[in-house]
Amino acid sequence: MLYLDNSATTKVDPEVYEAMLPYLLEEFGNPSSKYYPQALNSNNAVVEARKNVAELLGVSPKEIVFTSGSTESNNMIIKGVVDYYSSKGNHIITTATEHPSVLETCRFLETKGFEVTYLPVDKYGRIDFEEFKNAFKETTILATVIWGNNELGSLNNIKDLSEYSLVKDVFFHTDATQVIGKVDFNLEDFPGISFLSCSAHKFHGPKGVGCIFIKKDQYDMLTPLTPLHHGGGQENNLRSGTLAVPGIVGLGKAAELAKKRMSENIKRLEDNETYLTKILKEKFSEVIVFNNDVTNKIPGILNVQFRGLNNELLLKQLAPIIAASTGSACSSSKPSHVLDAIGLSLEEIRYTVRFSMSPYILKRELNIFNTL
Ligand code: PMP
Repeated sequence: MLYLDNSATTKVDPEVYEAMLPYLLEEFGNPSSKYYPQALNSNNAVVEARKNVAELLGVSPKEIVFTSGSTESNNMIIKGVVDYYSSKGNHIITTATEHPSVLETCRFLETKGFEVTYLPVDKYGRIDFEEFKNAFKETTILATVIWGNNELGSLNNIKDLSEYSLVKDVFFHTDATQVIGKVDFNLEDFPGISFLSCSAHKFHGPKGVGCIFIKKDQYDMLTPLTPLHHGGGQENNLRSGTLAVPGIVGLGKAAELAKKRMSENIKRLEDNETYLTKILKEKFSEVIVFNNDVTNKIPGILNVQFRGLNNELLLKQLAPIIAASTGSACSSSKPSHVLDAIGLSLEEIRYTVRFSMSPYILKRELNIFNTL
């Protein structure tokens, strides 16, 4: 069976699995405890994981806060920032093609008196820089823009958007969940990014763990925000709760591997995308339409319409040999808001399937499409 739903989740790399095992078995200590070996060893493992994640992002380990994944990270940053800075303003800028963990958080905040601008997108799901600039008001306190879209793969111009936010003295958050390990960047080159969310299970780490990057200021202090969890004060008082050590170790290992294999993985994803595109065009030329752009995107994501074929029925038929999805796994029952935002009709949305690849897929495995 060929697994092509890697934007929904990925398999755990065997090296990640091996790294996690001791922390489920003998090294089960609470890293916040002291003196005895299990506590010290699990604390050391968390220190090491934090270092690896920080190195992947190009930041200081101090700027990493572990969470349960990107849903929590997005909720924590958006709610935490607007709560902490509510005396400065009540306006948030975001986009129509964010993940539901951003969109629904913004909708919730609208019910609490915040004002949200949902920027429209072009036919590939990217926002326009001029429209972004025009959206700023005196009352704007946060801009949150997805880096790479989970359905179309399109990348937003995070450099220009974050730098403009810095000039305007407005916090800039990006949901980087889908770009980690697939787009080579270093946050040293993005001084305007104040916050970033990521999740281990999207880059061959375990589910249920992720992190937030929170920028330090010139006095070496993390940008303050209201925590989502109140409790024991772990993670610098920003995220209470006993640290999920096996998951954090898995995230750290996945980050180390992602950094080490970055260029090789990107090349494999690009090659796989080119090869699958070619097969699909040859084999289904009569019915196929590509919704995704071909450049300035996350490699390995294809979003295609099989015109005349209902996507759910098609996926069901393919399921014994190919695993794919209609788009976001988090909202699969509703027609995609991303495809709606790029202007597709309901009919076109119902024809659409997403194939998302991983660097572990061998080119020849994609030949399975030739047998359909
Ligand atoms: N943001 C994006 C862009 C995503 O693709 C996902 C996962 N589908 C999330 C946030 C939520 O991540 P998690 O599963 O870690 O909560």
